[in-house]
Amino acid sequence: MHAKRLALVALSFMSFAQARAADQAMDEVFANHQQQWITKPEFTSPLVDHLPASTNVPSPREVLGEDIGAPRVLHYYADILKYYRVLADKSPRVKIIPTGKTEEGRETLLVLISSEDNIRNVEGNRQSLAKLADPRGLSEPQAREIITQTKPMYVVLGGLHSSETGPPEMLMELAYRLAVEDSPVVNGIRANVIVAINPATDPDGRDRYTDWYYRNKIDDTDDLTPVHNAPYWGKYIYHDNNRDINFTGMSARNLLGFYLDWHPPIMHDLHESHPFLYTFSGQAPQNSMLDPILYGEMPWFANFEVAQLAKYGMPGVWTHGFVDMWSPGYVAFMSSNHNGLVRMYETFGNGGATTLLRHVKPVPGNTDSLHPNDETTREWFRPSPPYDVVQWSMRDNTNYMETALLTGLQQTSLFPQAVLENFYKKSRDALTEGQTRPPYAFIIPAGQADMTRAAVLINLLRLQGIEIGRSTGTVKIKEGTYPSGSFVVKLDQPYGRLAKTLLSKQVFPDTKLKTYDDAAWTMGMMAHVEVVESADKTALDLALEPVGHVDPQGSIDATSSPAYAVLDYGSINLATLRNRLRGVSIQIAEQPFTSNNRSIPAGSFIVEAGSYQKLKAAVIPLGLTAIALPEKPRIRTHEAAIPRVAIYSTWGSTQNVGWVRYAFDQSETPYQLIFKEQVRAGNLHAKYDVIIVPSQGRTAKEVVYDIPMTGQPLPYTKTARYKYLGDYGSSPDIRGGMGLAGLEEMRKFVSDGGTLITLGESSAVPAEFGLTPDIEVSRPSQAFYAPGPIVTANVLKPANPIFYGYTDHALSVRWASTALLFVPLRDKQSVLMAFPGGEKSVLSGFMNGAEEIKDRPAIVLSAVASGQVLMFATNPIYRWQNFGEFRMLYNALFNYKNLRISLDEPSVPAATGGANEAHHD
Ligand SMILES: [Zn+2]
Repeated sequence: MHAKRLALVALSFMSFAQARAADQAMDEVFANHQQQWITKPEFTSPLVDHLPASTNVPSPREVLGEDIGAPRVLHYYADILKYYRVLADKSPRVKIIPTGKTEEGRETLLVLISSEDNIRNVEGNRQSLAKLADPRGLSEPQAREIITQTKPMYVVLGGLHSSETGPPEMLMELAYRLAVEDSPVVNGIRANVIVAINPATDPDGRDRYTDWYYRNKIDDTDDLTPVHNAPYWGKYIYHDNNRDINFTGMSARNLLGFYLDWHPPIMHDLHESHPFLYTFSGQAPQNSMLDPILYGEMPWFANFEVAQLAKYGMPGVWTHGFVDMWSPGYVAFMSSNHNGLVRMYETFGNGGATTLLRHVKPVPGNTDSLHPNDETTREWFRPSPPYDVVQWSMRDNTNYMETALLTGLQQTSLFPQAVLENFYKKSRDALTEGQTRPPYAFIIPAGQADMTRAAVLINLLRLQGIEIGRSTGTVKIKEGTYPSGSFVVKLDQPYGRLAKTLLSKQVFPDTKLKTYDDAAWTMGMMAHVEVVESADKTALDLALEPVGHVDPQGSIDATSSPAYAVLDYGSINLATLRNRLRGVSIQIAEQPFTSNNRSIPAGSFIVEAGSYQKLKAAVIPLGLTAIALPEKPRIRTHEAAIPRVAIYSTWGSTQNVGWVRYAFDQSETPYQLIFKEQVRAGNLHAKYDVIIVPSQGRTAKEVVYDIPMTGQPLPYTKTARYKYLGDYGSSPDIRGGMGLAGLEEMRKFVSDGGTLITLGESSAVPAEFGLTPDIEVSRPSQAFYAPGPIVTANVLKPANPIFYGYTDHALSVRWASTALLFVPLRDKQSVLMAFPGGEKSVLSGFMNGAEEIKDRPAIVLSAVASGQVLMFATNPIYRWQNFGEFRMLYNALFNYKNLRISLDEPSVPAATGGANEAHHD
């Protein structure tokens, strides 16, 4: 004790003195560990170089056996929860809020930490925050009164990306420190802030990656010969769990539920990749629909952290130079989307707890580098750059994160009223804006041919807390007249700005800028659902009844007819219907026809009366319409097949495959997930009718050769020790790809009569490796830049089964690939859909060089021997977003034997053509 007081006297700077309590016992073992585990003396700070000892609340070491940041130690999710439970059990300053379960059944929860008083009053505080989040009916004096009596909640997330292993470790130590430390800094945080910790935002991935680390990565030495990442984290979508704009992931969905219940004004997501610590300040392009206050708050926090950590002597802390505020689809953006403040760090993770030699300055020729940009230069936003080369440890990483986070929390504790005032004002501004500035509402008209996709869209908006009403009378606004029962999103609601962000067209502010993710996401265009933006202020006065969850009920005529037609207006649920009626013979109408004066579109299912009960049980919950046919229709029909489907996945890039798996699981579509092992084993056509190769890998070569055969074998198999590996597929060594041997089996599959379907970038594989000898691929110029805009594609063969359910010949599709297909003139009948190109074809977001895609094929069907290759240059299942395109892929499945229908008919529009005639060589 005495020695420590002397040490404290030496640190007599004011802010340093606030970092520890003068008379609190300290954990000597921790201090020694810390000194051993940091790689340079400057990689720590007065905030974290010590840990208080507590007689009644156990530290992480006392529960888990080791201090946080120990070399070669990562904790499994159960251990992490065990620690928080002990903490909540022993400390009245800690409370656990359960939020649900993950795909694999792990519990999700938030850990609240604050003063004893604040925790005791946390429910009242929650209600106060709810009032600030929705200030309708609140007078200014009432709001002021609430603000003075309320504590801001600051949510911290770690472990969304499972290979970014540090945050879930650091957060346990932070929780302990916040619960027990009596320093002025921590006392201030406890008194004025409620901290909420999300222990690991992808709990399933945490366990799987921890297994992977212990099995394959623990002996890493440097970053020049990196061991490949685990093939899976959570069940489906890997790194895209931070692009999950519609909250498919259960953990993210549970967190959103917590958010909408607790209304934290600040949410902070901890990531790892950039050196040494990057603190996000919200650079351009920015979503200009969000409040200007937000764009002041972001650098306000970031700059305080840069200054404080510089003061503590920690190099390499910077801001401003990474990630923008354009796309709303990142998980923690649930806060900025709902009038809160979003925060984000990147720290320098090693992909595990092993100390590594890190090359921060790019090494020429090192193509494995995550960050080709040099981040060691001094810039105005990086006044103290990271070092060129450094030994870096988990404890270094922990110290950076924890110091900065304590600093962000300190700032919140110094300005709790400002944070709450801002939160209230942003919410109030959202209401005012919806009342005073167009647009005032969005209308989703009733009576659209397919209301099931409209329901998907409405339910996704509701999931995010957006209020929607159903009109009780006809909607007459200056944009048009819409039937009673239409859905109306009035924008004079707290989350009106989010509705506007999601539903309106994206107009990119500056074509010289680049964006980190998608430039466009307009929901109506993505779902092919009519959404009317209204600049008519009278829309705010429409009489509405509130809408909860929308479940369109289907209908079926009474029994006693020889057959029924299930009308096809493009519902994705038609795919689900086919799968639910396995064993029932279903025919598909190849042409439209009329029956009892009702027109029945091509693509409709014809089901015999014998299956009436099964049909009824399926169509009602799926929202489909089945009508009685007085006689079997006298038109051409063919079987609605349920092919034996395989989805091919590389081991090195399972993410986009995961989105297709997710969609197929939702539609109950059966499939086998196959890897290089199954492909190389051959005999594919005996096992499968259709093989789908989703978009994956950056190049065709990468799809074929995948993870290089360097280093040690990389087993992904389940064992007694590694029980989370071997899920969703299994391999004794994930390196090597299918190779040419596998490709030859794919070729045989096609020539034996199989249907190979390639999506997005993977369509370069059959073209570049000669499976479709006549089709070429070229790449756009350097100037071309298309970060996921929504563009027009023209249907050239509208009678083809791929387009059953589609009535328009100009479809909005998400741009998906830089593999520009080229089909010679003699094969132009094989082009089913093409991009008209040009500026006018860009419907939302932006594309530099839109002329370069002019007349390039969007879908090609190539006959090869007795089989066929169906190539999508689009990605018909892009994330959980472009619902309007999903049916093209499902149509390909249940019509796989009949895909050549209409190929010989002239293409429409005849003048456009699908083939690029000018480049024929
Ligand atoms: Zn990340």
